[in-house]
Amino acid sequence: MNRFEYIKAPSVGEAIKMMNSTVPEAIINANKGGAHIVKAAGVDLLDLIKEGVVSPDRVIDLRQIPGLDKLNFDQQNGLSFGPMVTIATLAENKEVYKNYRALHEATAHAATPQIRNMATMGGNLMQRPRCWYFRSEGHHCLKKGGDVCFAQKGQNQLHAIFDTQICPCVHPSSIATALVAFDAKVELSGPDGKRNLLLSEFFTLPEANVTCENNAQSKEIITNITLPVLKPGTRSFYIKQGQRESYDWSMGDVAVVLEMEGKQCKTARIVLGAAAPVPMRASKAEALLKGKTITEKLAAKAGELAVEGATPMEHNHYKIQLFKTLVKRSILAAV
Ligand SMILES: Cc1cc2nc3c(=O)[nH]c(=O)nc-3n(C[C@H](O)[C@H](O)[C@H](O)COP(=O)(O)OP(=O)(O)OC[C@H]3O[C@@H](n4cnc5c(N)ncnc54)[C@H](O)[C@@H]3O)c2cc1C
Repeated sequence: MNRFEYIKAPSVGEAIKMMNSTVPEAIINANKGGAHIVKAAGVDLLDLIKEGVVSPDRVIDLRQIPGLDKLNFDQQNGLSFGPMVTIATLAENKEVYKNYRALHEATAHAATPQIRNMATMGGNLMQRPRCWYFRSEGHHCLKKGGDVCFAQKGQNQLHAIFDTQICPCVHPSSIATALVAFDAKVELSGPDGKRNLLLSEFFTLPEANVTCENNAQSKEIITNITLPVLKPGTRSFYIKQGQRESYDWSMGDVAVVLEMEGKQCKTARIVLGAAAPVPMRASKAEALLKGKTITEKLAAKAGELAVEGATPMEHNHYKIQLFKTLVKRSILAAV
């Protein structure tokens, strides 16, 4: 591990300034030229530093900045929360349970109780992929700036079944699956001010930039996350499958948000997690449900359409049946 400077930022403005200013010379000399990086709870960041994936010359702690851990809900504006809100806070919030059931399920089933108590939502969305080649010090893979993707011909059982050509790492945030299904937005603050992006546009495919999973600039910080008010009659559900019940990332997860009028589905949003390098909408399955009464047969057909066009890799064909089942079950559980 390289030497780095550790600073507690007193405000977002100061944190952004610290991202732009230079570190003391002694640290520059002791470091291989790493970047400045922000820290939330450090659950992923400390692993990344220890694994040699990142070697920052300055770590800027956001934990003590007042206001970044606020959560608000009201019927006019929907749900809004700061990046330092923990996964446990969302999982335990009554309004989230009542109004955004899929988000409740996603947060309640992420990681372990200990991690949920520490880990923040900003860190969750910015965590780096769990591909073992990316995390291994012995593999200088494409995602780390090398020229080989070892997963293409290697151990790819937990990798993508869509968009696999360049780097088939899946995004590790299972909570993002539910957030994308609810049309969530992130607010990014940087040297040029603030901007808001739909979460579905925030995450990017490897062809845009294989070394990064999102559109945030290196000096931008996530400062807020918002979910819109839902139309009356909206129902949602989320199911995650891991290798173990707890203590694990997703092998496949699905979030479904259905706008219902009586028994009829007016519009559907179905998102697959750990199927592609980004949380992925299953648009054909969504179109199938529109205007129809939900039945078991229809939900099963939606599951089949959700995996149409998939190109599974050598060791992950099982994900086809997994997603068919998860889509069917989550639709039936939502209504
Ligand atoms: C055993 C285990 C199981 C897990 N299972 C799951 C799971 O099932 N589902 C799931 O979704 N996650 C899972 N996780 C991941 C966990 O949720 C994340 O590691 C955690 O949310 C990171 O939050 P943090 O606050 O510790 O972020 P940190 O580790 O502090 O930061 C992570 C990254 O985000 C950046 N960052 C942090 N905050 C901001 C911000 N506000 N703006 C810009 N960049 C920022 C940091 O620079 C760093 O690169 C698991 C983790 C473990 C260890």
